[in-house]
Amino acid sequence: MTKKNSGSNQGVNTRLAHSGYSPRDFHGFVNPPVVHASTVLFPDAQTMETRNQAYTYGTYGTPTTTALNAAMDELEGSAGTVAVPSGLAALVLPFMSALSAGDHMLVVDSIYAPTRNFCNGMLARFGIETSYYDPAIGSGIEDLMRPNTKLVHTEAPGSNTFEMQDIPAIAEVAHANGALVSMDNTWATPLFFKPLDHGVDISIHAATKYPAGHSDVLIGTVSANERAWPALWKTFTMMGNCAAPDDAYATLRGLRTMGVRLERHQKSALTIARALEGLPGVAKVLHPALESFPGHDLWKRDFCGSSGIFSIVLDIADASRHRAKSHAFLDALEIFGLGYSWGGYESLAVPVNLSDRTIALPPKEGPVIRLQIGLEDCQDLLADIERGLAAAAAA
Ligand SMILES: *Cc1c(COP(=O)(O)O)cnc(C)c1O
Repeated sequence: MTKKNSGSNQGVNTRLAHSGYSPRDFHGFVNPPVVHASTVLFPDAQTMETRNQAYTYGTYGTPTTTALNAAMDELEGSAGTVAVPSGLAALVLPFMSALSAGDHMLVVDSIYAPTRNFCNGMLARFGIETSYYDPAIGSGIEDLMRPNTKLVHTEAPGSNTFEMQDIPAIAEVAHANGALVSMDNTWATPLFFKPLDHGVDISIHAATKYPAGHSDVLIGTVSANERAWPALWKTFTMMGNCAAPDDAYATLRGLRTMGVRLERHQKSALTIARALEGLPGVAKVLHPALESFPGHDLWKRDFCGSSGIFSIVLDIADASRHRAKSHAFLDALEIFGLGYSWGGYESLAVPVNLSDRTIALPPKEGPVIRLQIGLEDCQDLLADIERGLAAAAAA
């Protein structure tokens, strides 16, 4: 699992169990304190004037956020990490950090939809232009680079349809043209892909997902290399958009078990994805670790594992039946919940809307259903999906 990860010689589960915090820093207690704070007191006016102490105000950080951020730095190999109140807030921060009025950004078309919404809805208002590129573009991104292109944003696998990207090739072109590269690394977590080792400058996580892991926390992290860190930190301190102490604590607690949870998510998701391939009613399974998936070679080259979320394309030729049959599928599920987000312990199913796509177009065979495979017993989950397929066939 750690074969392509650089850094510490220790195994990833050892690092997950101990990184970010040393119990001796707080009287030997195994976990860090949850520090609720706005005000931090200074011992005298001179210290206050120079701000010469570790903590100066709650928005800049506390021992709780330091522990989480240090753990993320160790996992990502980054120079610095900040924690913000959601995954979407984490995506926005590097944009605000790297872009100014008159700049241009390139964003992959298989993007998490709210990211597109922010670019088209908010950045456009501030005079920043976004254009979207084919996830399969690789070094061909050279043709899209403009003199004012300051940021290339990537996400692999893509949201809902899981297209892979040639991250090293894209990073090489971006850097040669003076642009930074950011990546939404939520799907892989730093256990299965370390963006900064592959040329990315800023790695972003909806830590809401696997790091927090229990569907009860909203939080995001942004980890930057030496080059991108100073501007990112400056922007973070300007925006006041800091994660709350209990959420930071719960996320560090989630990280401790993320390795064993992910092993289970990975195994169950692959077992189910393989079982679904070729089943009547399933036109395609969109999972990068399947040999049949178009981006599989890139996944195999760069990633050291796969997580628990993938999609199926239902085999429904008659487009006028897509809605009724996908509803029949979803309504027949007894274990899978119908709900957004993923990365928790429980299984979820979502009908996927790809109407925002301009280049990475929806599959033609039928509607797309995204499945988050939780920690339940695999045979129960498979039986549930088969129940859904039978209901879709009968509808
Ligand atoms: C869920 C998700 C986000 C946003 O995270 P929130 O904490 O829900 O705001 C960002 N990127 C990806 C790929 C996601 O799946």
